[in-house]
Amino acid sequence: ASLLILSVFIFLFVFGLLYYSIKNLITQKKIADIKTDFVNNITHELKTPLATLTLATKMLKKDEVKQQPAIIENTVSTIERQNIRLQKLIDQVLNNSLGYQEIKLHKEVVNTNDYLDMIVNDFQLSLDSESIKIYKNITVNKEISIDKFYFTTAILNILENAVKYGKEGLEIHISAKIKHNFTISIKDNGIGIPKKQQPFLFDKFYRVGNKEVHNVKGLGLGLYYTHQIIKAHKGNIFVESEENVGSTFTIKIPLK
Ligand code: ADP
Repeated sequence: ASLLILSVFIFLFVFGLLYYSIKNLITQKKIADIKTDFVNNITHELKTPLATLTLATKMLKKDEVKQQPAIIENTVSTIERQNIRLQKLIDQVLNNSLGYQEIKLHKEVVNTNDYLDMIVNDFQLSLDSESIKIYKNITVNKEISIDKFYFTTAILNILENAVKYGKEGLEIHISAKIKHNFTISIKDNGIGIPKKQQPFLFDKFYRVGNKEVHNVKGLGLGLYYTHQIIKAHKGNIFVESEENVGSTFTIKIPLK
């Protein structure tokens, strides 16, 4: 009997050892995959604005362009936008992937109507495609206190996602209201998000599906960061979405 107990014990020990080594290997493989994806994606995310900046500066150096204020103005706006994009990206990566969690807000008072109008207009200008329709229903008019840089980053992340994960005939509806909170909703008719994946959307590095499902590059940090920003404002963010129908992201922040 003691031999049997010993054999069972040895079997369990060897089995446990095997189980843990395999689990460890799988975890290491997963981490290696995440790292490779991250490096590939960040290379892509950095290359696009840098390429545009190179083209834009070349354009400004051309003799025939020097006499054309409209082209100069347009190109300088492009440079400004790409700069902001790079600034946002670097900020996002430094704040998140290196583990600095704390977001320090520098709040200022803005008028809800003017502020949202400004973001939406700038966003509309930055779109390459004229086929994307944007509808605004912003009737709120109140002073609120937010960190403009961070809050704008949060809203732009959602708007940019609507475009990245949009389909032909994309429509984006942006609405805002004030009741007990300041509520902003951004609704798209894009590819949508399966119910099962929705609880993980705001997790660090989370991306739905894989390259086969959608061929869109990203770091899986945008919504995580957006959530952090909204939390720092003592607010909340929710998603409602249906596959192939679209998604609505709603942000609520307290008025005081
Ligand atoms: P990224 O866009 O860099 O992958 P995000 O954190 O911004 O990272 O988004 C996480 C994931 O959520 C995306 O990979 C995408 O699968 C999904 N997602 C986000 N916004 C939308 C949207 N409007 N429609 C469909 N899927 C979305």
